[in-house]
Amino acid sequence: MTEKIIDGKEISSEIREKIKKFSDVLKKESGRTPGLAVVLVGENPASKVYVKNKIEKTKEVGFNSIEHKLDEDVSEEELLSVVDKLNNDDEIQGILVQLPLPKHINSDLVLDTIKPIKDVDGFHAENVGKLWSGLDSLVPCTPLGCSILLKKLSSDLSGKNAVIIGRSNIVGKPMAALLLGMNATVTIAHSRTKNIEELVRSADILVAAVGIPEMVKGNWVKKEAIIIDVGINRIEREGKRILVGDVDFEECMKNSSKITPVPGGVGPMTIACLLLNTLFTSYKQFGKQEIKLSDIFE
Ligand code: NAD
Repeated sequence: MTEKIIDGKEISSEIREKIKKFSDVLKKESGRTPGLAVVLVGENPASKVYVKNKIEKTKEVGFNSIEHKLDEDVSEEELLSVVDKLNNDDEIQGILVQLPLPKHINSDLVLDTIKPIKDVDGFHAENVGKLWSGLDSLVPCTPLGCSILLKKLSSDLSGKNAVIIGRSNIVGKPMAALLLGMNATVTIAHSRTKNIEELVRSADILVAAVGIPEMVKGNWVKKEAIIIDVGINRIEREGKRILVGDVDFEECMKNSSKITPVPGGVGPMTIACLLLNTLFTSYKQFGKQEIKLSDIFE
């Protein structure tokens, strides 16, 4: 690894250590343990791996981890009733419903049924509105992780051009809100954008969240750009199944000043931020003095 490579694994591990310290203090002061509930519907292999990892890391920082596994054919009504029970359970401070949900279930309805204060994924319309209004809110974990990496590199992005490829509610849009909050000039590119290469060439900061393996080529990237690669794509290369991002890592590394690898970049930050959100909302729900990101990074 060179200094050019942003080591998300190491940074996320430092964050989890800090969460553990805050969690110990909170438990001592309140006599209560933060609880994070994960609801998993069906047998999606990627979701199962992700949930297993989340549960492991949740326990490591000293939170209670509660898992609800539901069959693929569970009715929407039944799922909503599970969410409702968790909303009203004082032992649970955070609720995460693993996406994607089966097609017969209205995901938006499920996400909006989670109490905003327990919405540790930050997808509830109330949290989304607060984020865009610059108000205190629970922020979606992946973009929050990307913003922490960027803050580590530069606390103020004033005057910088940031280009995000992808406009999903999970990554692209909240990332734009966070970058605006950091004073960057933000452009969102998406599947209908023309001249995407040219746009990318103007980027001091590039966040790629598309889902197309190695879409961004080396000659698209401005010299000294900071590249945050959110993409996780499974491909076959030389007879092996490997993970690659949305950025051609080898090519883009030559031009960029800093770049996140896949795996080991944004991925581990996402889980660390889920635990951060659970910690923040637990302080609030236990009636303690609220803590912020700046307290964690002091
Ligand atoms: P999504 O499918 O919801 O959104 C993809 C976006 O890319 C869309 O807005 C679409 O307009 C845009 N797009 C598609 N084709 C394009 C093209 N040719 N040119 C420009 N834009 C194009 O995906 P998502 O949930 O935002 O995830 C994006 C990627 O990030 C995926 O690879 C996903 O696996 C990964 N991801 C990683 C993490 C993590 O923790 N690292 C978390 C979430 C998502």
